[in-house]
Amino acid sequence: MKTGIFGGTFDPIHNGHLFSAEAIKKILDFDRIIFIPTGEPPHKVARRVTSACDRFEMVCAAIQGIEGFEVSDIEIKRKSYTYTYDTLMELKENAEPGEEFSMIIGADTLADIFNWHRSQDVFKLCSFVAMKRPGSDEVQFRENMRRAAEAGAKVYTAEIPQYDVSSTIIRQAIAKGEDVSVYIPYKVKEYIEKKNLYISRDMTYSEICEDLQRLLSVKRFTHSMGVAEESVRLAKIYGADVEKCKLAGILHDCAKELTAKQYVWMGFEGNCDKDYEGENVLLHALAGAVLAKERYGVCDEEILEAIRCHITGKPEMGLVAQIVFLADYTEKGREGTFYESVREKADKGLLYEAMLEECDNTLIYNLKKEKLLICVQTVKTRNWLVSISKQERK
Ligand code: ATP
Repeated sequence: MKTGIFGGTFDPIHNGHLFSAEAIKKILDFDRIIFIPTGEPPHKVARRVTSACDRFEMVCAAIQGIEGFEVSDIEIKRKSYTYTYDTLMELKENAEPGEEFSMIIGADTLADIFNWHRSQDVFKLCSFVAMKRPGSDEVQFRENMRRAAEAGAKVYTAEIPQYDVSSTIIRQAIAKGEDVSVYIPYKVKEYIEKKNLYISRDMTYSEICEDLQRLLSVKRFTHSMGVAEESVRLAKIYGADVEKCKLAGILHDCAKELTAKQYVWMGFEGNCDKDYEGENVLLHALAGAVLAKERYGVCDEEILEAIRCHITGKPEMGLVAQIVFLADYTEKGREGTFYESVREKADKGLLYEAMLEECDNTLIYNLKKEKLLICVQTVKTRNWLVSISKQERK
């Protein structure tokens, strides 16, 4: 038995997916093709992906009545990030004797298979059918085919008609109110309309929390809730914008648990121990601001600044950033005399002094730890706070 596996985000599934799969099934004589919508795709962390349930339902609607097409919820059922390796292992366990698996992938995905989790093991578990996509560079495609074969993958290609459509184009068109009937099956269009998908709108605070719960460990999410709550409390004391502080507080650590690979996918160098000039220790804060913007649709510069500099502070940072910087230190989950003392100053309205003590504590803590490097940005923040305090005393 020959089974084709067509994995994808399918956000939404479109005719490019369906027509290509039909053509490949026919040409390569597959008995069946299983469409597998991904759960949380790790490489697409920097954008808001439609719920797994909606993407699954759209695939069901699209393939209904097409012979030899099936859908599996194997990946969306998984709580953590989904990796092809785990999916293949699960499929193999339930396979028919002698069943062969082949992954159907587009040219863009072919370029990426070397970066997959346990790629070498994946290459042993299945072969690949790579499809050219409109606009894909023929030379680059050949080169990727060669590289994949060299790396041990069994890769084939099939000459099939190319369909110039992508889910991105469809999402953008719907957001602009354009008609997408030519790109997607009628049933999928109906579903999108019924559920109001892809209409651009701000995420609500509770939707953001729900999403963060999936992205973060329980401990980190609890801390984020604590920082949001403390940011609100401090915002009221210091007359800052409560909603902005709350949002920056809940999002400040949103990128903290990304993997080094995900940082690279987002365009950041994942090397955290190279430099303490300020840059790399700030990695999760910088990536957090990108995530806040791209995934959660936050465009407010004060909120983004607060996320960007929440670890070390920054000279001249705005009030929202100051509040979140302090709240990250004084949230109620932090226990101990150091925190108590800073909290007391914060409660008395001594914002700069509280932040100064926070910087000093951090620096002293790092100095006491053997060979722990000092982040220059914290020193700069401290110096800025010292000079403000001096001016205030004059
Ligand atoms: P997005 O635009 O959101 O990145 P997409 O249209 O590429 O989405 P995916 O769900 O990411 O769709 O694609 C699943 C698989 O289908 C990938 O391997 C992709 O390369 C392939 N694919 C997508 N569109 C086409 C198309 N028009 N022709 C051939 N292959 C395609």
